Amino acid sequence: MGSIKENIDNVEKRIQAACDRSGRKREDVLLLAVSKTIDVPRIKEAVDCGLTSLGENKVQEIMDKYEPMGEGIHWHLIGHLQTNKVKYIIDKVELIHSVESMKLAEKISKLAQERNLTANILLEVNVAEEESKFGIKPSECEEMVRKISVLPNICIKGLMTVAPFVENPEQNRVYFRQLRQLLVDINSKKIDNVNMDVLSMGMTNDYEIAVEEGATIVRVGTGIFGARVYPNKK
Ligand SMILES: *Cc1c(COP(=O)(O)O)cnc(C)c1O
Repeated sequence: MGSIKENIDNVEKRIQAACDRSGRKREDVLLLAVSKTIDVPRIKEAVDCGLTSLGENKVQEIMDKYEPMGEGIHWHLIGHLQTNKVKYIIDKVELIHSVESMKLAEKISKLAQERNLTANILLEVNVAEEESKFGIKPSECEEMVRKISVLPNICIKGLMTVAPFVENPEQNRVYFRQLRQLLVDINSKKIDNVNMDVLSMGMTNDYEIAVEEGATIVRVGTGIFGARVYPNKK
């Protein structure tokens, strides 16, 4: 791995190449820098390279970094969210990628009403139906979209998935394709107030495949900041 700047240049090149291969425009893909476990000075290096959209998987980390990172950051919550913690981040994040229950959606809607804002969310879909993963089943998706679409102050922008960990990223192409098809299918039902256009899929290991399959947000951590160090784990 090189410096953060070199890493970003490399990721940018690869995203551009994936766009070229699939006839897509670079500006239709957001590179979300996943800054979990990374300290503020290093995150600022990435921001200085132009990456102002940051993804965190823990509420606490967003709260800790929010003030030090200052203005102009677009925070995304990409990890599991407990209903009792929604209140801490509802007015701080631009997009919550990880909604996977009605209980959580209802809580987000309620707090968004109280704060007089609209919360943008994605539904997390466990496309590969892995036991260990968060997310709803593809077969449950349409019904949940319908139920959330009638809640006030919450807007479903699209779908998100965390694909399986695989040696060969080509193995995940099928799941990215399925997530995109699910979005197309649900949009075709013309549900009132539902027009999803965000597909959050692809991580360091497989973002190029995800872009080829239509990702509009790729979530890249290791590819930008290098391997993560978890201080409280042995
Ligand atoms: C950590 C994380 C990522 C980034 O993973 P890398 O393999 O380091 O790119 C993406 N999405 C989610 C939900 C994550 O928790």
